[in-house]
Amino acid sequence: MNMWAKRDGLLGQMISTKTPVAADAKTSVAVRFWGVRGSIACSGHETAKYGGNTSCVEVRCGERRFILDAGSGLRYLGEALLAEGKPVDADILLSHTHMDHVCGLPFFGPFHCPDAHVRLWSGHLENGWTTSQAVDELMAEPLFPVSKDIFKAHLEFVDFDAGDTLEPGGEVTIQTTPLNHPNGATGYRIEYGGKAVCYVTDTEHVPGAPDQNILGLIDGADVFIYDSTYTDEEYPRFAGYGHSTWQEGARLACAANVKQFVVFHHDPSHDDAVMDGIARELKKMLPTAVVAREGMVLRP
Ligand SMILES: [Zn+2]
Ligand SMILES: [Zn+2]
Repeated sequence: MNMWAKRDGLLGQMISTKTPVAADAKTSVAVRFWGVRGSIACSGHETAKYGGNTSCVEVRCGERRFILDAGSGLRYLGEALLAEGKPVDADILLSHTHMDHVCGLPFFGPFHCPDAHVRLWSGHLENGWTTSQAVDELMAEPLFPVSKDIFKAHLEFVDFDAGDTLEPGGEVTIQTTPLNHPNGATGYRIEYGGKAVCYVTDTEHVPGAPDQNILGLIDGADVFIYDSTYTDEEYPRFAGYGHSTWQEGARLACAANVKQFVVFHHDPSHDDAVMDGIARELKKMLPTAVVAREGMVLRP
């Protein structure tokens, strides 16, 4: 095999990981990670293994498609959805509206398609703010050249209060809870076909006092994705920043009898070597747990 053929082979593999996740049966649940990084996207070979895009996770529940957060990974999911050649129908559930969780919104290809139907949900906003207004602020001069009026898709904005139970239809139930984060954030538990996938980022723990809201949300879950920005050793330097540690996630997962814990929202300073080290420590503590990587698919 010559060098180019080898390179094309590798490229082929990479492209094959960039496809939206298909649900095998009407009742099946599948989870695909399109962005796993926190705070800011980072490119470069140091982060290529785990990925540099910010938070975006696709959860398929039979025919329904939920998208948890709209970080930079959302752009790649949008491209993959357009490549399917079918009208896009999706629900984007925002944990909150900090930049690393919404920066992909202006670049989501399906927003430019008249036959796309997308509902955008958030439950953390206070003081009269709405989800629609938050997107207006994101796409406003002088920080962005065009407003959301350029989108041709049918867009719906749904405001709720973290703690509400959501009924998006299609036999899917979504429980939510408020998280401990500056300006608020929402944790989600998506249930379908007897499976439960929980997404809990961004949130800060209180050392020695497990968050009872989170424990209630994740009880017995099949998949538990958690803000693991720091290690326990690093945490004291960053107390008050609104983030947690992978060890706290593992403790919560054990206490709530979670089947699979997923380390998520990796700190930009944690390169692949650091993440490999965390993965090794994690396996010793919880053999079923995994570190999230871009392109990873879980089928609980
Ligand atoms: Zn974040
Ligand atoms: Zn945040």
